[in-house]
Amino acid sequence: MTTTTQQTITLHAQCLCRAHSFATPPLPTTSLPLPSSSCHCTSCRHLTGALRSSDAPWPGPANVIHAAADADAEGGGTLRRYVQTEKMNILFCGRCGSPLFCEQLPAEGGGAGAGEPEYLAFTGALSVEGDGPGATLPPVVRCVDHIFVGDTLDGGALPWLRGMDGEGGPAAKVWLGGRDCSEEVPAGARWPAVGALEKGYEAGLKTEGAKGDVSLRCHCRGIDLVLRAGEAQREFEETQRRGGELPWYIDPVTHKGMGSLDGCDSCRLAAGSEVYNWTFAALRHISFAGANKEGFPRDTSQLRIATEAKDGEGRDPRLGTLAFYASSPDVQRYFCGRCSATLFYAVDDRPDIVDVAVGLLDSPDGARAESAISWSFGGAMTWRQDMIGTWREIMLHAVEKDAEEWRVERGYPKHWRRVAREEAEKAGEK
Ligand SMILES: [Zn+2]
Ligand SMILES: [Zn+2]
Ligand SMILES: [Zn+2]
Repeated sequence: MTTTTQQTITLHAQCLCRAHSFATPPLPTTSLPLPSSSCHCTSCRHLTGALRSSDAPWPGPANVIHAAADADAEGGGTLRRYVQTEKMNILFCGRCGSPLFCEQLPAEGGGAGAGEPEYLAFTGALSVEGDGPGATLPPVVRCVDHIFVGDTLDGGALPWLRGMDGEGGPAAKVWLGGRDCSEEVPAGARWPAVGALEKGYEAGLKTEGAKGDVSLRCHCRGIDLVLRAGEAQREFEETQRRGGELPWYIDPVTHKGMGSLDGCDSCRLAAGSEVYNWTFAALRHISFAGANKEGFPRDTSQLRIATEAKDGEGRDPRLGTLAFYASSPDVQRYFCGRCSATLFYAVDDRPDIVDVAVGLLDSPDGARAESAISWSFGGAMTWRQDMIGTWREIMLHAVEKDAEEWRVERGYPKHWRRVAREEAEKAGEK
């Protein structure tokens, strides 16, 4: 077993396509972990496509970031600013969609708080030089609080993120609204309204008003779509009744699409926060919003071609601000070119389905959209291998443990894919 001998680390904030990279001066390891905050508010979920945004004060030079953003704004570069609120801009890569920094604007006038903007880095964008299996880095970030959890109605991702940094440090505080100015959720409670959730979950989509349609839209509304989850559910129920085979992502009991916890590095970078949440849908179950719903691309190659078309050259205006970045030759990551929100993950060998960013869904039962999604809680997180051996490994084990405890607490059965995998493993042992 090696021990940490490094006295300093260099921290990078870098986007998925590596067009933008910022580094800190060497930081003493004694200054770690950086205190981070997770915001679960509706605005942050629609800005990232994740169930929360996560940021920490950037311990590097602010003027470098400011100058780069100004230069790109003037020169048509790809580091883009999006106005989230009067006091806050998001800086993101317009080529790959990764959010990098929150730019907190100085207070108007003189006095305390006046001066230069301050920068918070999205923690998902952070990496340390030399990290990986064999390196024994101290935790770089530790979440000190979760804010605006009340916006989620159902607790969102809190149940599996509350203890995400493991033991050995102060427990993160949880606020229903703003820090120090709203009701605090007591330690030990994953979410105070668990009982109230049951109704929404049991009601399901079939009995709900708008046929189980769930809005799918980004913060700036440049992407405004509908996931026709109720229609999908009814269709797959019928498929099963006729003895047909269900797609791998459909729950054979509820006929809802699977929801996943994902540890993939690329998803972390694309959304700016660790542990991404996807659900899965056939493109035929996605529509444009508004009166003229028909005509959304039915397969991933049509979607790619439609998105590549330029305004005035046959681009469907209903595609709005949709853009994509090919993170591998066969992968398209769709995002909003104006506000940076992650929307879809598409891969060429699954032409009729996409991964859908759960954070963009507006489901009446809450941020986890349990009336439309069958969550895969417990068991191994998808792409967990990307976290192994890095400073984020503590988070991997803590999240897997909490997700399993949450499953048991909620009384959910083991996920069907996990049962199938465990049975296959058992058969292999014999
Ligand atoms: Zn980029
Ligand atoms: Zn927020
Ligand atoms: Zn947008």
